[in-house]
Amino acid sequence: MVDQRYVPELSVVIPAYNEQHQLERTLEAVGFHAGRASSRYEIIVVDDGSSDSTWDVLQQCAMRMRGVRGIRLSRNFGKETALCAGLEEARGAAVIVMDADLQHPPELIAMMVHLWRTDAKADIVEGIKRVRGTEPLTKRLGAKAFYGALTRLTGHRFEGASDYKLLDRKVVDAWKRLPERTTFFRGMIVWLGFRTVQVEFDVPPRSGGKTRWSFLSLAKLALNAIIAYSAVPLRLIGVVGLLFLLGAFALGAQTLFRKWTGDAVTGFTTVILLLLVIGSAVMISLSTIGEYVAAIYNEVKGRPRYLIRERVERETEGNELALSGSRHA
Ligand code: UDP
Ligand code: MG
Repeated sequence: MVDQRYVPELSVVIPAYNEQHQLERTLEAVGFHAGRASSRYEIIVVDDGSSDSTWDVLQQCAMRMRGVRGIRLSRNFGKETALCAGLEEARGAAVIVMDADLQHPPELIAMMVHLWRTDAKADIVEGIKRVRGTEPLTKRLGAKAFYGALTRLTGHRFEGASDYKLLDRKVVDAWKRLPERTTFFRGMIVWLGFRTVQVEFDVPPRSGGKTRWSFLSLAKLALNAIIAYSAVPLRLIGVVGLLFLLGAFALGAQTLFRKWTGDAVTGFTTVILLLLVIGSAVMISLSTIGEYVAAIYNEVKGRPRYLIRERVERETEGNELALSGSRHA
């Protein structure tokens, strides 16, 4: 329920999945820094179907701390979807999205808000990772390969991007008009355009628990992103097909020549090799097409992105302030 009397200037959206150990610490830090940045702020925590006591912690925090609201999704939908839920819920003139594990330092909030207020060019203030913290080498290499590929395949710049961002209200409203079911937040924001200002930050180690991303879930995210933002893999099938066609011409000519000159029996190895190579090429092509078809099917079903199970919000919130603010006031 949107309370018309209370319009915050700043919304902070935090997706949380099994974050019981550090959620309270995070909310305290975020509340403190958001309060320094703006007197009218709200913090929206989206509990992404956690299986630990994240929701209980969140309920207590929402009762105790100013401006904290909670939404609980009906199951684990994944971070991207949890972000969607939070963004749709946010009412602020500026919305900051950040992680629940303090890897996105809350000290940056004041600076982001300051940039957004003073710099008319700052529709989006984007946090750029300076050092990828203590991430293992494999993950760093994986991220580099993925963003490199995505940048090349889509023509948009992705490198160094993080999910720590401040979005102006008009960006959030524009984002809400993108109807796709399978979302890739970073990609959508890049696609939207608008004017972006960047601030660098160091990624500290996770404040507790361990990363929620397995290799498989990261690979799935990468695949979704590539399929959603690029048709290059489909075109690649055509290119490979063309190469095979050229080969077919050459080999065809040679075969015919040999038949006419009378020594046609050799070349059995060639036949086997050709069968194997072409067979795998065809199957890879089919599966590539299959991935796109599956993505289309998912979109066409048109199911809601997420379902909300319950909410928590302190009743008195609406009475605190009745002003609605304008951006460069
Ligand atoms: N997260 C979520 N749903 C998930 C997985 C993660 O809401 O299914 C949240 C998580 O609670 C955290 C953020 O997404 O706030 C980033 O997750 P994590 O820190 O595990 O990712 P990493 O920093 O390792 O990329
Ligand atoms: Mg993290």
